Amino acid sequence: MTHRFGCNTLYPGGRLPALEETFDLPALRQALLTIRDAGFDGCEFSHYQHLIAPEQERLREMCSCMGLQPWSAHSWVPLPAALGDVPGAVPRLGESLAGAARLGVQVLVLHAAGAPPSAYPERSEALSRALQALGPAATAAGITLALENCADRRDLDFLAALLERLALPFVGFNVDTGHAVLHGMTPAEVIRVMGPRLVTTHLQDNLGLRDDHLPPGAGSIPWQTVRDALAEVGYGGMLMVEISDRPPGREPDPVGDTRAAASFLRKLFAEEH
Ligand SMILES: [Zn+2]
Repeated sequence: MTHRFGCNTLYPGGRLPALEETFDLPALRQALLTIRDAGFDGCEFSHYQHLIAPEQERLREMCSCMGLQPWSAHSWVPLPAALGDVPGAVPRLGESLAGAARLGVQVLVLHAAGAPPSAYPERSEALSRALQALGPAATAAGITLALENCADRRDLDFLAALLERLALPFVGFNVDTGHAVLHGMTPAEVIRVMGPRLVTTHLQDNLGLRDDHLPPGAGSIPWQTVRDALAEVGYGGMLMVEISDRPPGREPDPVGDTRAAASFLRKLFAEEH
């Protein structure tokens, strides 16, 4: 099987400032060049909603010129867990989706707001309404919404049961390998729960203590088991890395981290049997 690899856009000027406007079009162009020069096939836009529409369209053209596939975008607008939050969240999520369509990606990664298990019935209804409201725009743009694992097994089982019940063709899952470990699971376990609904990945590493977003191979995740679980569920999408330009406890190294991720993954998947 031929694999395609991708990496998220990292701010090229040191630690990404709180004000994302700093990550402007020239900086994003530099981030894309770093991804291409490391040998990746595609990219995820980690920060794009501060850009105006023509800038988002320009990024799509830049990807085309560089031979990079714009694979995914990350929205930082959470899917609502409370019914009262649905009317406010849906238009903002719609803006995320419109921006993602302008970037030309096929996956929009979303976090679902958490809730205590006692509030799961309401959470279920809130999530259903929000996802269904996004359906027409997602379908028109050919974009799949990918819910990321951000909490423990109980939370994941809730989301898996919900997606099973709703059976919306434009909704799937994103496995975040680092989050799996920090919430008491193995990445392979999360991948198996997501199964055929897995539509994208956030491959990132840590030492089991904090959300480091290290390049795969730089922490303690057993990556052969991740690779084998992805094959087991038949995942055929881009193998997307999610490293950080705001790493805790160290200085950002966008070029070094991007290169390290590319060479580690190429080697790991070349050894697949
Ligand atoms: Zn992630």
